[in-house]
Amino acid sequence: MSREYSHKNLLLTSTTRAFGSVQRYIQGPGELKNVFAYGRKYGDRFLFIVDSGVIDMIRRQVEVIEDRAGCTCVFHSFFGECCQENVDLLAKVARESGCNVVLGVGGGKVLDTVKLTADAVDLPRIIVPTSASSDAPAADWAAVYDINGVHLGGVPTTRCTELVLVDSTIIARAPARLFAAGIADALVTWYEAEANERAFTPNYIGKGYARSLAGMAIAKECHDVLIRDGKIAYEAVKSKLLTPAVENIIEANILLSGLGFMNTGCAGAHGIHNGISEIEEGKQFLHGEKVAFGLLGEMVLENAPREKLYEVMAFLDDLDLPITMEQFNIACSDENLEIIVDHVVYKNALIHREPTMISPELVRDAIVAANEFGHRYLSEKKG
Ligand SMILES: [Zn+2]
Repeated sequence: MSREYSHKNLLLTSTTRAFGSVQRYIQGPGELKNVFAYGRKYGDRFLFIVDSGVIDMIRRQVEVIEDRAGCTCVFHSFFGECCQENVDLLAKVARESGCNVVLGVGGGKVLDTVKLTADAVDLPRIIVPTSASSDAPAADWAAVYDINGVHLGGVPTTRCTELVLVDSTIIARAPARLFAAGIADALVTWYEAEANERAFTPNYIGKGYARSLAGMAIAKECHDVLIRDGKIAYEAVKSKLLTPAVENIIEANILLSGLGFMNTGCAGAHGIHNGISEIEEGKQFLHGEKVAFGLLGEMVLENAPREKLYEVMAFLDDLDLPITMEQFNIACSDENLEIIVDHVVYKNALIHREPTMISPELVRDAIVAANEFGHRYLSEKKG
């Protein structure tokens, strides 16, 4: 096992705790119309960098805003990966536009790219998610890829996002599958927080510190809200309805999960996710969907009680999330397991944040056991 990826090398060296956060978070129905009123304090020339899939919808909504608080704006369409090439390109666009505020609108990839772009040009940034599919929006962190979509790792951003503006009407109308994936990504936050706490590994604030009570409380609240309101909110979003439960889950998926993981740390569930992403078929699935299965592997690894494991499987299955590898069209074969385990154990640090001794054999058996539990659950449900 390489030294870089070992539990020993990840251990905290002090008990100093730290908490970090975006500067402001605003969430509510129709809030996009207030983007200039809220953003005015950061500048008056806005560069909207918008996901190509939603740019027409966003442009229509922004163009009819009458009171612009004296602000002007320009639009730029984004497509592709959060990679250095796109950051360089957008930094050039930002400089040439003469804008003094950078806005990212869309899903995780555009938002992460805009975070790094704002860092590169040293301008305030506003983040406007159009779905609640992951915890990217409220995390001062970016998942970086190469131009071909190969995941290179996560990096903390230098500045803290000035404003995360969530228009819950837009989120409730996004595909329900994205919402469910966001719930899965948010659900693992508490399990991974506990793993890191027990393993005495650092959070993602600055150079990495021990967890504050605030960080742990946010992760726990995230879990509790999801268990209480997750299923009912998912049903509402399937009909594109914005209910109080949906508002709660939007906050859990975006704010509680984003602050939760930054302030506590990721662990085995995300580690196994990264391994599954190494298989071609796995690349077709959403981040949260792979993290959902990863959580089952993490729970087996941590020897979670059977009832708890079944509870989590039932919750995920009710949200139409995958609980077996075959639901990703990935066979649980020796060949696939070798690729997954090799990545999880030797090419990524996350599994080593687990409070247990890690070996390739253990990780392999935990994944196979999780897969078998998933199959058993599904056949018992049918039976
Ligand atoms: Zn995640």
